[in-house]
Amino acid sequence: MNKIEGIFGSMVFNDSVMRARLPRATFEALQKTIREGLELDRNIADVVANAMKDWALEKGATHFTHWFQPMTGITAEKHDAFLTPVNESSMIAEFSGKELIKGEPDASSFPSGGLRATFEARGYTAWDPTSYAFIKDNTLCIPTAFCSYTGNVLDKKTPLLRSAEALSTQARRILKLFGHEDVKRVFATVGPEQEYFLIDQKVFEKRPDLRYAGRTLFGARPSKGQELEDQYFGALKTRISEFMRDLDEELWKLGVFARTEHNEVAPAQHELAPVFTNVNVATDHNQLTMEMMKKVAAKHGLACLLHEKPFAGVNGSGKHNNWSMSTDTGVNLLDPGKSPAENVQFLLFLVAVIRAVDDYQDLLRISTASAGNDHRLGASEAPPAIVSMFLGDELSGILDAVMHKENYLGAGKTYMETGLGILPKFRKDTTDRNRTSPFAFTGNKFEFRMVGSSHSIADANTMLNTMVADALRAFADELENAEDLKVAVGKLIRRTLREHSRIIFNGNNYSEDWVAEAEKRGLCNYRSSVDAIEHLADEKNTALFERMGIFTAQEVRSREDIMLENYVKVIHIEALTMLDMVRRDILPAVVKFTSGLGESALRKKELGVKGEYEKKMVGNLSALTDSIASLADALDQAVIDAPEGKGALPLAQYYRDSVFPAMQELRCVVDETELLVAKDVWPYPSYGQMLFSVL
Ligand code: ADP
Ligand code: MG
Repeated sequence: MNKIEGIFGSMVFNDSVMRARLPRATFEALQKTIREGLELDRNIADVVANAMKDWALEKGATHFTHWFQPMTGITAEKHDAFLTPVNESSMIAEFSGKELIKGEPDASSFPSGGLRATFEARGYTAWDPTSYAFIKDNTLCIPTAFCSYTGNVLDKKTPLLRSAEALSTQARRILKLFGHEDVKRVFATVGPEQEYFLIDQKVFEKRPDLRYAGRTLFGARPSKGQELEDQYFGALKTRISEFMRDLDEELWKLGVFARTEHNEVAPAQHELAPVFTNVNVATDHNQLTMEMMKKVAAKHGLACLLHEKPFAGVNGSGKHNNWSMSTDTGVNLLDPGKSPAENVQFLLFLVAVIRAVDDYQDLLRISTASAGNDHRLGASEAPPAIVSMFLGDELSGILDAVMHKENYLGAGKTYMETGLGILPKFRKDTTDRNRTSPFAFTGNKFEFRMVGSSHSIADANTMLNTMVADALRAFADELENAEDLKVAVGKLIRRTLREHSRIIFNGNNYSEDWVAEAEKRGLCNYRSSVDAIEHLADEKNTALFERMGIFTAQEVRSREDIMLENYVKVIHIEALTMLDMVRRDILPAVVKFTSGLGESALRKKELGVKGEYEKKMVGNLSALTDSIASLADALDQAVIDAPEGKGALPLAQYYRDSVFPAMQELRCVVDETELLVAKDVWPYPSYGQMLFSVL
């Protein structure tokens, strides 16, 4: 066996391990459960748990944990040793089916948006057998969903699984109409491209803002930024390539299909793309990837920054969420295919996505809303906050022709007959690239580009699955009653295109004109996260979630609160970090530096020598010092004046409108000052040192 095959999945309790270690009947029962999403028999669970434990112990594990994804957006674990005392001096390693299936973390401190008062804090975690258990840090990790005892959803996995199920159910109804009775399940497939920064760890440690907030809250622009674009796809520096090699190996051990690694546009920025897989596993794997990036970086004396905008004036990081739908028989439903019959089916799924994205633009926008991503969306480096779809000229041409029942002037410049059923062959390689679109068709999948680099992709994919499932549901309702299916499909496709084509935009999304044009089209443009989040529980959205069985109305509202609270907390931490940096490091350093200049001016005066430079600098720096001090006081006051107790929305709006601008003003003056103060006196590494620190 070669090296990569030897490593891959070596820490995963996957199908081949299960086949080798489980009695055949148990293996088959478990597979059936996984394939068909059925409930698991307790007796089977005992056998599986025991086999898992033996396997984990052989791999050196001593502990196990239910691994879950609370609303913090990161993963959580609580470790237990495989230890059962036999008597006062001995123990045996045990792990029961009960422990595998259900856990009870004391989880009172996870955000619940008021769903769970602390006195009834109990929540439980439930095994998700559709994502493999794995070993990390000598601990057997069991992927689980997290709910409260009253049955309320408290995590990101449960709604994702429900949305995937809804999508499967509705897509199968459509497939049945096309005669595909053999399809048992339809999966949402996802390949998330992950952007990140790597800087030297020593430099990182000297920056409280990076440590507490994940981004630089101060920092003057360096003389060299990303303007030369000499880093993009450039040769990897040795330390970086060693990191990537190591990261790949760690991820492969965990069964993550890490494949493509390259430098990104900004200095110190890189990207990792895995091969796509089903949405549940892809989401778990993306969480693991982010965690491993940080861990492996530390081993190499590096710090990995996953924040959406670690450095002002330099491109931020996002996550391109590539999404499609695939049957268990291996057919990608967004592949335009070759034969006309397939094309009609493809077009139907395509217009379902068009309808879904148009009807629920706001949900897609909301799924990417966070204080961090506000720095990125609409900043001419990432899509604007307006959701639209890019289809490319050829596909748009086909749709146009379908809509107007015209002949399509194909890429070969010959007229082709359209009419549904005899569509031209769509050539994938002609999909032009539009890197400015937030939601682009890229040949056989959509690439959703608004997601922030630190976000869990669970949110965006829960929305996508749910809204597309709902469009397919409406289609199936209509078509199942049709007298002539072919005619009905044609009508439905044309009508959907007529009603929803406003969402399609193939032009430059970064341009000013588009903002005006989008407004004319009635598309929503929620510039700030707060503007977006307050629409999560809008009536039409709550109705969607209830209809598709994803959330109750109460759960939707709780999520809105959690998101708003998170926004406030992030800005609050940033504001306090700034105040601390200014008052305890920056001002003392500037004052000391100014007083040195003053002394020099005085000494020169004693000697009868001119000291114009020093005098002028003392004047300038003193003015800046006063201005920094008063802006810091203003920020402090803004934080103190926050309207507590009036609800999450007014508080978030206040932080956006009063605290954040005060932070910006303070930063502006501090950055100006940095450029006037000697390098060895400034208390923090500069942008240049951070961005060009790794050789
Ligand atoms: P680019 O940067 O040009 O968009 P990459 O190769 O970096 O291309 O990333 C493309 C991503 O899309 C990969 O993660 C890939 O696995 C994923 N992908 C390809 N086909 C599908 C599909 N059918 N469904 C979901 N994701 C897909
Ligand atoms: Mg991409």
